[in-house]
Amino acid sequence: MNETSHTPIEKIPEIHSKLKATFRTRRTISIPWRQQQLLLVARMVQDNKDLFAEALFKDVGKPAMEAYSYEISPILERVIIAATNLPEWAKPEHKTDLFDPHQRAWSPKVYFVPKGVALVIVPWNFPLILAIQPLVAAISAGCCCAVKASEIAPHTGRLLAELVPKYLDTEAYQVILGAVPETTKILELKWDHIFYTGNGHVGRIVSAAAAKHLTPLTLELGGKSPVILDPSYDLDVAAYRIMYGKVTNCGQICVAPDYLIVPTNGNHDLLNKVVEAFRRAYASFFSDAPPLESTSYARIVSKNHFDRLNTLLARTDGTTVLGGQVDAKRLKIEPTVVIGIQPDDALMESELFGPILPIIEVGTFEDACELVSQRDHPLVLYAFTQSEDTKTTIRECTTSGNLVYNDTFIQLAIAELPFGGVGESGHGRQGGRYSFESFSYLRASIDMPLGSEQFLTVRYPPYTSENLKLLNPNVDIKIPQCSPTTGIMKG
Ligand code: NAD
Repeated sequence: MNETSHTPIEKIPEIHSKLKATFRTRRTISIPWRQQQLLLVARMVQDNKDLFAEALFKDVGKPAMEAYSYEISPILERVIIAATNLPEWAKPEHKTDLFDPHQRAWSPKVYFVPKGVALVIVPWNFPLILAIQPLVAAISAGCCCAVKASEIAPHTGRLLAELVPKYLDTEAYQVILGAVPETTKILELKWDHIFYTGNGHVGRIVSAAAAKHLTPLTLELGGKSPVILDPSYDLDVAAYRIMYGKVTNCGQICVAPDYLIVPTNGNHDLLNKVVEAFRRAYASFFSDAPPLESTSYARIVSKNHFDRLNTLLARTDGTTVLGGQVDAKRLKIEPTVVIGIQPDDALMESELFGPILPIIEVGTFEDACELVSQRDHPLVLYAFTQSEDTKTTIRECTTSGNLVYNDTFIQLAIAELPFGGVGESGHGRQGGRYSFESFSYLRASIDMPLGSEQFLTVRYPPYTSENLKLLNPNVDIKIPQCSPTTGIMKG
């Protein structure tokens, strides 16, 4: 994106005011209207699918297979899910399962209400789906929305800015193009929800700006997502599935397996077997052409990111056992496996976000869990094992946004699962109904019948000891005891 295509900074407050004014007209509240706009999003993506695939190729060398499978098709599927289910999602909840049955007469309900005017800030690695998915959520919830596309994926950003006004209501939905100065201006304004996807450093800037206006926030961040590999698992299957998560989009995925932990109990031969399995997977994936030439392999997005990864490869104390070749001109790095990694190695400093897989050997599964727990909570924890006991140990001893056994990356294919981080990997959830809820707030409501007045007079002054007793029948209630092992309550 060159600077001339950026949205002029002085226009940004105007866009914001226009969206606010549209929201006040309440036209985005109507469910059929939202459904119609949602389906127009699908139409926009479908009518222009080849243009989007071309833009994604220009931005990050994304092969068409990846552009269609991980951006274009899932958008179509998810928009249809949202448009179809919206009437159900948006239905007010009638609370009939109340603890205190006489309160049922008060008609307690929960309404899902649009928060207002939302801001979506998009990263470069999946610049289409990570723009459209939150936009779809905002539309579903009944919000107006500004989408700030990523300047590092300029072709996709420009295409979105050109097409959104042709398909959607421009008074309700806008795309803003720009980099740090434009985003800084955007963040000065008061939004009703901010949905940020990107790195934790900028996540802190966005959080600080949101805090000034007490604006609620979804932070979809990243971090180092580990893989724990049980050496008794089928190593060929594991290598294929791990390598798949590492080579897709050239490892530039928030949920890419970042590093591999192998509990070998001191049996180093097991590690050799793991490396051999990776060699076989690698040979199979790139049987038509080596990775630097392969049309099945994307590139690194920019020179900055290429240099960052290359510097890490130069600084690591580990040994490269697979890959390692680079092509600076075309910003390509081979899938690279590095062994002999210590937890303080350069490759373990921060999220790799590239096709490098460091392998750390530890003694036991408990050691593996301890290693994961000593670090920031990851977005995903992957574990390859057939043992139910090991699965339980790993689940109970670690914290991560999502937990995936025996595959990588594929969890994102389930549109209805809540996706998001914990701690340093972010907060808030997206996916199906969860996305809708992120842009809605729960407006609890009651409607007190006139006829209830006779039961309510006890609350009015002048206060008496008799009314105090009537209002607080439970104040001396016997509190039961609970067994910490069985959970059985007694007394
Ligand atoms: P990026 O550089 O495109 O930045 C993201 C957005 O922040 C852009 O729109 C950019 O304009 C804006 N921005 C950058 N600097 C800013 C500043 N100083 N002030 C205000 N706004 C600023 O993308 P990125 O952050 O490099 O994306 C990669 C990161 O995103 C990785 O950490 C990855 O794990 C994470 N990610 C997370 C998810 C998820 O769903 N959890 C998905 C994709 C990527």
